[in-house]
Amino acid sequence: MTPIDGRAAAAAINADTAAAVAALAGRGTTPALTIVLPTADESSAWYVRSIGRAAEKLGIRCVVEELAEPDALTLAARLAELSADPAVHAIVCQTPLPAGVRLEEVGAAIDPAKDVDGANPTSLGRLAGGLPAYPPATAAAVLELLRRERVELAGRRVVVVGRSLVVGKPVALLLLAEHATVTVCHSRTRDLPAVCREADVLVAAVGRAGLVDASYVREGAVVIDVGINPTADGGIVGDVAYDDVAAVAGAVTPVPGGVGPVTTALLLRHTVRAAGGS
Ligand code: NAD
Repeated sequence: MTPIDGRAAAAAINADTAAAVAALAGRGTTPALTIVLPTADESSAWYVRSIGRAAEKLGIRCVVEELAEPDALTLAARLAELSADPAVHAIVCQTPLPAGVRLEEVGAAIDPAKDVDGANPTSLGRLAGGLPAYPPATAAAVLELLRRERVELAGRRVVVVGRSLVVGKPVALLLLAEHATVTVCHSRTRDLPAVCREADVLVAAVGRAGLVDASYVREGAVVIDVGINPTADGGIVGDVAYDDVAAVAGAVTPVPGGVGPVTTALLLRHTVRAAGGS
């Protein structure tokens, strides 16, 4: 079994991003990302701080704007203001959102040209139509890891577990664009292990620690673990029971150190592109 090294992939992406930032600096532009943090959720605050640190290292300006549980109208109004501000190149509305607020609703207020985490339903629609758009960074990270590992997708069977707007659905669209044969599973799927065992490539994006064990995995399959589940000791684990699955899979992403670092690296790459970089 080959472990898939997300940290190494992120470092390679960041090296390209640093070069693009330097080229932009030569034209007098510093890429500027604003992350709106609409709740006091601890793990998203931690994640946003880690993006801020990564941005700073690359010469990207990152402003975190904390809002106190705004309602949908207030949050959408702020995202629209940021969209109209020429000093802001890129906008992320960090989830989870306050109770009763849906990302589809407020994400529509983000200008698609600044929507570096694919929160505007227009971005998803454009992806579905094969038009240029920023996919959610996590979905893009899944494809980026498969591409870097040279996993062939055309004509192969991929099973995605999870159908959320931020992960499962956009991952499925990106895989279809690569000519994979895609099955999307969710909480109502019957006999999930049997469906998953048909996969050449299995993507787990559920949010249930250790859900995917060896009984879900065909011998030699590539397994991408998107899940982030907090543990009692302050760490995180994925949706995949890593040691169990490693015994049968051909390659697996670890958690931490798999999809997560690549997600951050791609968010920053998108930010530099939104600022006019390459
Ligand atoms: P979500 O709760 O919006 O969606 C979960 C999906 O899993 C749903 O479609 C649901 O139908 C499905 N599901 C739930 N229980 C199931 C079961 N028992 N069997 C089959 N399917 C089931 O979550 P999300 O936002 O898509 O996130 C999924 C996971 O990915 C979470 O752990 C989240 O923390 C993680 N995540 C990671 C990154 C990253 O950068 N690595 C980014 C976003 C989300």
